[in-house]
Amino acid sequence: MHHKTTIEPFRIKVVEQIRLTTEAERRQFLQHAQYNPFLLHSDEVIIDLLTDSGTSAMSANQWSAIMRGDESYAGARSWLRMESTIRDLTGYPYILPTHQGRAAEHLLYSRIGGPGKVFISNTHFDTTRANVEFSGATAIDIPIEEGKHPEVYHPFKGNLDTGRLEALIERHGAENIGAVILTVTNNSGGGQPVSMANARAISEICKQHGILYILDACRIAENAYFIHQREEGYREKSYREIAHEMFGLADGCIMSAKKDGLVNMGGFLALRDLDLALKCRTVLIITEGYSTYGGLSGRDMEAIAIGLEEVFEPDYLNYRIKSTGYMGEQLRKIGVPLIWPPGGHAIYVDAKAFYPHIPVEEFPGQALACELYLKAGIRCCEIGSVMFGKYDENGKLIPAAMELVRLAIPRRVYTQSHIDYVVETFRELEQETERAHGYRITYEPPFLRHFTARFEPVV
Ligand SMILES: *Cc1c(COP(=O)(O)O)cnc(C)c1O
Repeated sequence: MHHKTTIEPFRIKVVEQIRLTTEAERRQFLQHAQYNPFLLHSDEVIIDLLTDSGTSAMSANQWSAIMRGDESYAGARSWLRMESTIRDLTGYPYILPTHQGRAAEHLLYSRIGGPGKVFISNTHFDTTRANVEFSGATAIDIPIEEGKHPEVYHPFKGNLDTGRLEALIERHGAENIGAVILTVTNNSGGGQPVSMANARAISEICKQHGILYILDACRIAENAYFIHQREEGYREKSYREIAHEMFGLADGCIMSAKKDGLVNMGGFLALRDLDLALKCRTVLIITEGYSTYGGLSGRDMEAIAIGLEEVFEPDYLNYRIKSTGYMGEQLRKIGVPLIWPPGGHAIYVDAKAFYPHIPVEEFPGQALACELYLKAGIRCCEIGSVMFGKYDENGKLIPAAMELVRLAIPRRVYTQSHIDYVVETFRELEQETERAHGYRITYEPPFLRHFTARFEPVV
């Protein structure tokens, strides 16, 4: 078959200079950042794969809409535009704007959480878990078995284990389940998609027990692409129709617009139930802002309204998922252990397999993140025992299920040559794995420690 390169379906109109640092400079910068890439300055970074969140390049269309932003306090035109876009897309009547996804999580989980409540998810994203636990509730992750094995192929590795869901409802009692939260795609579980069949099965279980069902819909467009490709019966449907159908199965959603909203800041909570929406609106007005802007400017709301349309364009989504897959395929070809198949927004390297000589207590993922930075100025994020590890009563580490390093790909920002540079760097690191060493934590806060923890090398 004639195989053509999937090109970036855009031309570059504005450029942002990258400062090309030397390895000696980077050694200093990383020491200064106490071996936590989150503490680096962005101009010390060459290729920033720390996150795909809020790092999208906006389109000329979005930038021009920004000039039309209506900054009225109440009832702004820009708000009405964002609200109607989200209503059309989701079918939910009550839309609450927030400055980002975690603020929407706070509105909802602070109201429906609390001691004694249990939340169940395929995998709670870190801010989701923090918001649930901060309310005093418990967060339980039940991905399907295949989702826990990096090398095992499954078309929908992000699925939630519905058998375990029923068992947990039985054990805790439906009245104690705060909500079932389905994260699409499953970010912390490898950016893996969730099938419509799974979303529907969960919907039926939740309806039967009267349990609230929330979609964490940050990457629902990317998820829709996978359903279109891999699930029987969706070939003729548009990506937008697929997303709409999935929203239709749940009672509401939380979305960080910093992902598939294709903007740099924003989010929302959308709900079907008026009473619940009014309860959350009270918190919104106290903590975020008035209900027709949340934490957003009018111009932000214009950009979100357009981003939520652009993200479903077939050429965009095809390029997006294919270019993530390209990085995955190139790395796999040279033998880098990865979560397979690639997810939508990131490639997840299995650091435990890459650095088998570094024990989990010394954070092999942190080690790989540091090596990528030192070698080539690539910044990425550990998703392993630094992010999700806990301590038992004796202060011994209870490690995370996997030790991953996430190479997240900002939307519409990097070209194929940037990605080739990342692949080359891995080829070099593979030649010298035994030189890498572990790290120990010298400071950590009680929640979301990976953002601000400090480390020192174990040598
Ligand atoms: C990013 C993200 C959030 C939180 O959104 P923020 O905008 O970063 O506050 C919640 N859930 C998932 C799955 C995410 O990826």
